[in-house]
Amino acid sequence: MLQSLAYVANDPSRWLVLVVIVVCCLAIAGLIGAFAYRRQREQNSCLDTAINNMSQGLTMFDKSGRLVLCNQRYIELYGLSPEVVRPGCTVGRLVEHRVETGSLSVKEAEAYTDYRRAAVAQDRIVSNIAELPDGRTIVVTRRPMKDGGWVATHDDITARRQAEAQVAHLAHHDALTGLPNRVRLREQMDTELARVRRGQYLAVLFFDLDDFKSINDGHGHAVGDKLLRAVADRAQGCLRETDTIARFGGDEFAILQTGIDRPSDPAALAARVREAVAQPYDIDGHQLFTDISIGISLAPNDGTDPDQLLKHADLAMYEAKSHGRGTFRFFEPAMNARVKERRTLELDLRNAIANDGLELYYQPILDLERDEIRSCEALLRWHHPERGPVSPAEFIPVAEETGLISVLGEWILNKACSAAASWPGDVSVAVNVSSIQFKNQSLLLKVIKALAVSGLSARRLHLEITEGVLMRDDETTLATLHQLRELGVRIVMDDFGTGYSSLTYLRSFPFDKIKIDRSFIKDVSEMDDASAIVRAITSLASSLNMTTTAEGVETQEQLAKIRELGCTEMQGYLFSHPMTAEDTIRLLLSRAGGVAGAERLLPRIGRTDEREMTGTSAPAARMHG
Ligand code: C2E
Ligand code: CA
Ligand code: CA
Repeated sequence: MLQSLAYVANDPSRWLVLVVIVVCCLAIAGLIGAFAYRRQREQNSCLDTAINNMSQGLTMFDKSGRLVLCNQRYIELYGLSPEVVRPGCTVGRLVEHRVETGSLSVKEAEAYTDYRRAAVAQDRIVSNIAELPDGRTIVVTRRPMKDGGWVATHDDITARRQAEAQVAHLAHHDALTGLPNRVRLREQMDTELARVRRGQYLAVLFFDLDDFKSINDGHGHAVGDKLLRAVADRAQGCLRETDTIARFGGDEFAILQTGIDRPSDPAALAARVREAVAQPYDIDGHQLFTDISIGISLAPNDGTDPDQLLKHADLAMYEAKSHGRGTFRFFEPAMNARVKERRTLELDLRNAIANDGLELYYQPILDLERDEIRSCEALLRWHHPERGPVSPAEFIPVAEETGLISVLGEWILNKACSAAASWPGDVSVAVNVSSIQFKNQSLLLKVIKALAVSGLSARRLHLEITEGVLMRDDETTLATLHQLRELGVRIVMDDFGTGYSSLTYLRSFPFDKIKIDRSFIKDVSEMDDASAIVRAITSLASSLNMTTTAEGVETQEQLAKIRELGCTEMQGYLFSHPMTAEDTIRLLLSRAGGVAGAERLLPRIGRTDEREMTGTSAPAARMHG
């Protein structure tokens, strides 16, 4: 080193070189330093930005519990003052400040301090959930640091919690009505079933709307949805707090009734709910009516697990529907078998419709005054390959429940009209129309088409409807009836006396004819009240210019009596059973000779009339009228 200095000192020009080298070194060192400083500053500012833009609140404390660092989010999260919450502030002061500003209660403040101490002492990450007085939920996570301090993050999970709660709600509730759904009701049933005490019962009332599909089809889904909500409200209004109503989707609802002392109690609830739901609705200016059929199962009698009880209530509802709707039924074990039976029948009926397995028979209706066949009623016959003849009274309701009646009804109309078009004179055909066929508006078009294709004049078509059609009480049905009548089609009130027999129905539409139900005719010769009723109907009908047909006339005594009571027509085995289309034509052709002609023909008719088909052993009837 000394040698080097001597070497430089010996020559002044070497000094200059040395000075230049030193200056260069210093400049390079300075540049490196400045660069490092800038980088440090940049890094710090990046860190600052990152910390202050975190979605979580962040605090860092040193070993002595003084704040080293905290971000803006932390201050905002708890609504604190940046004047207080700054580096150096003790954790004690911070807790005090939070109590002052309302994000921590005094009691929580104590727990908070204990908890923090424990977290630091345990030397591991610890989280806890804090519920703020304003309803927000914050997750606080503390991580101890090697030097004895700790870092805490504060995460506001209120929105996530709400979303989770909403998802949980949706999983257990029906979005349309807000009612519990099937899952929730089953859970509730589990709980309640475990609680049922000896001698107490629990009931499931299952129901759906009798006409919902047609309301949906006719008025649109928006109206349908509103109706469902209104039904849900009304049904809920009938319940006690301990009962639960759930919507199972579509138009199906179930009620869980608890704390029942007598097995008959659910009947009272069923009646209340029905009464409430059946009141008229005004939805978007539409006057709507609906009714419900209710099935009831009872625990422990009908089952002790939710699925079994629901299934049994469902079966009971199915049974209620097949007994005329707008009613309720308690489950009975025999229903299981009946439902199976009906399902098989439905399948077989579908097959029969598809494979031409059905036939129309015709039963003459006789004008008593003129002794003439004025019309024949078309009656459906089904000869099942294994069961033999199945009564329409058995399979028509199945066709109605399953919607098959729509296709079937159209087939009947076409067939009956084309048969009648080939009948002599102006003999009319009477076709039974189910109330379900009025539910969609295509009936009028189907009638027009059947008349056009067959060439039958409209006045030779009679449509037989029951009171059930008018009980629907909606304007579409009445409008369809009026349009049919304007076409020239005759409208007949069938089975009068079996439904509500309300005379107001007779006044609500200008019927051409009333058919008095067989149940009155059966007793007419023996019972005074039956004849009084028949007389009342015939006099009302004659004042309204309507024809009256006595149905099911089987004896000469009945015939004499109905004549005396003023009936204008008769239909029944006494004159003729329903018969095939071919025999009907033969009978009509032979009738040129009046009753006597028919009598001559009856033995021949006997070959193919329905007694062969149904196996009835009724003797061939003779008229002596
Ligand atoms: P309904 O419209 O009252 O038909 C008259 C029923 O009485 C027929 O029963 C007929 O065979 C029966 N009958 C006629 N005279 C006598 C008698 O003197 N004594 C007795 N005991 N019965 C008599 P059926 O054919 O079994 O039909 C039963 C019901 O099924 C019908 O009652 C009707 O409501 C329905 N139905 C039959 N065919 C059709 C159809 O094509 N369409 C619709 N929608 N329903 C039909
Ligand atoms: Ca009829
Ligand atoms: Ca009838």
